Amino acid sequence: MSRVLYNAVNQITQKYNGISHKGIDLVKEKNKVAEVMAHSDGEVVACATGQIHNTNTTGTQTYGNYVKLKHNNGMYTLYAHLKNVNVKKGDRVKQGDILGEMGETGKAYGAHLHFEVRTNKDIRINPTPYIDADLPNNTEKIEVTYQTYDNVKKKWLPNVINDSDYAGNLGNDIGGLAINLSKGSVEYRVHEMNNKWLPIVKDREDYAGNLGKTIDGVQMQSNEGKLEYRAHLKDGKWLSWVDKFDDTNSGYAGIYGKAIDAIQIKIK
Ligand SMILES: [Zn+2]
Repeated sequence: MSRVLYNAVNQITQKYNGISHKGIDLVKEKNKVAEVMAHSDGEVVACATGQIHNTNTTGTQTYGNYVKLKHNNGMYTLYAHLKNVNVKKGDRVKQGDILGEMGETGKAYGAHLHFEVRTNKDIRINPTPYIDADLPNNTEKIEVTYQTYDNVKKKWLPNVINDSDYAGNLGNDIGGLAINLSKGSVEYRVHEMNNKWLPIVKDREDYAGNLGKTIDGVQMQSNEGKLEYRAHLKDGKWLSWVDKFDDTNSGYAGIYGKAIDAIQIKIK
């Protein structure tokens, strides 16, 4: 049973991607609405009421009616788009207490619960592992979210978070790379095949690459945590993990003249 939806089994309607969607969207099985419950014991540190359905809002108004809880271990959870709110700021709640009813206030397309998990520094992390499990201990966990451009399909592929997967379609060379960190910043660049290193890009302000042109090298570094990255060659193998960004042979991922079709990144 769901830990946040009363008498329900969770149905995920939109996943966390770390960039444009830093929470997870849930409905009750078979697209039904449900009452929303406190994930864990805690205190209501923020809430909004009286919000209407409005898809043109920005900032916290996109949440519509919402409740934000601070838990005993310092982590936060947030519940958005509620139809109504049963609690007020300063209230203590117990796990399973009803916070309100699922709705579509704020920027929502259909009634659902938008659920977030945040660290003690208010950094939003991937809530998926914790929807129905205890929150992690108050860790300053950093996440790296990245995607590549598939030159064959001529489109950006879905975002990947950490090394849970790789970004790329094996067999299709990539022409662009975009990376973001949940905390701190990342600098990266790509080497255009048989040509040169393209300009360094920071975070998601832009992407690295010339879309349509094949990449044969990648470099990245961050000012938070330690990034490790590797490249997969179109002709069939993963190269070694790289943890530097310099001019040496071990300071980039790739082999000049060989097309890259996937990238994998982890952060420690
Ligand atoms: Zn959402």
